[in-house]
Amino acid sequence: MANILVYALHYEGAINKNSLGAVSEASKLAGAIGGEAHAILIGDGAADVAGQLGNFGAKKVYTADAPAGLAQPAIDAMAKVIGEGDYKYVLFGGGLLGFEIGAGLAARLGAGVAMEVTAVRADGGELIAERPILGDSSISEIKFRSPVGIIIGRLNAFEAVEGGGDAAVESLAVELSPQAGQATLRTRGEQRGADVDIEGADILVAGGRGLGKAEGFELCDQLAAAFGGNSAVAATRAVVDAGWYPYAAQIGQTGKTVAPKLYLAAGISGAIQHKVGMQASENIVAINKDSNAPIFEFSDLGIVGDLNKILPKLTEAIKAKKG
Ligand SMILES: Cc1cc2nc3c(=O)[nH]c(=O)nc-3n(C[C@H](O)[C@H](O)[C@H](O)COP(=O)(O)OP(=O)(O)OC[C@H]3O[C@@H](n4cnc5c(N)ncnc54)[C@H](O)[C@@H]3O)c2cc1C
Repeated sequence: MANILVYALHYEGAINKNSLGAVSEASKLAGAIGGEAHAILIGDGAADVAGQLGNFGAKKVYTADAPAGLAQPAIDAMAKVIGEGDYKYVLFGGGLLGFEIGAGLAARLGAGVAMEVTAVRADGGELIAERPILGDSSISEIKFRSPVGIIIGRLNAFEAVEGGGDAAVESLAVELSPQAGQATLRTRGEQRGADVDIEGADILVAGGRGLGKAEGFELCDQLAAAFGGNSAVAATRAVVDAGWYPYAAQIGQTGKTVAPKLYLAAGISGAIQHKVGMQASENIVAINKDSNAPIFEFSDLGIVGDLNKILPKLTEAIKAKKG
């Protein structure tokens, strides 16, 4: 059998969206290589949510009694499952913890690892991972020589698909390695803005350095509020690095990847590292005072002008239209 094990993250009774995507993807791929998709959930509350993964295609779910939110206990638990089972691949939905666990697991098992993977396909009973390289201008294909291949997706690379069946749930006793006791999770905090679901928003009003200062984001906040509904504010790395807006809102290569119905970019130059995080948006509208700004090359509508004048007018127009 060529089974695939998926690390699934859960918190406060909900399973992470990217983990659900990874389980669905693993289910599809396992079918193509003649195996099953299994998943592992770590920590308190795992048993309460484990059954949900059957609906996304998992045939078996392990619930491990180990501290959640830390890499080493997860590595211990996953290494045990892989050592006792018949696994050819391990799949992660992405995220910093996923990277940490995946890298540690690769070191523990002597396995190959592919990170920031955007697509996986089955070919002759094996999986081939596709990974963008050189600022996303090319795709490299990765095939594994090691007995177990570890694949870590880019956030949002895998779509969660419901319609599976039931999963067998098995609790797992884990003997933690000495290094697992070296760190404890003291608090799990949320960044300011982390409660905003940027990845799920239909409309994103994104601000860049052209806003001039942190207070400039008020213009974006006001426009997003005027749109109402499922709208949110996003940002470039330049402005989050400057402390003008929370990191949770960063779009791009080292931030989030989004595909809203409307992406309105205000004062954003359109650097390749930003573009890769928003180019899949259905409609891109850019406001920039420089008619030669690169963002106009991939915008559906470009407005050349001063955002300080255009954004308030746009906000008023949207409010007026909404009555
Ligand atoms: C390894 C690496 C990873 C990176 N990852 C990311 C990432 O994930 N996300 C990301 O965004 N960037 C990332 N970057 C940074 C990226 O290269 C750019 O520096 C950044 O995107 C630029 O942000 P910006 O468009 O806000 O600023 P700028 O490039 O400075 O652009 C500001 C724009 O505002 C316009 N402007 C100025 N005033 C006004 C006005 N009054 N009205 C209208 N327009 C105005 C200007 O004409 C200009 O085009 C990364 C870089 C590296 C090297």
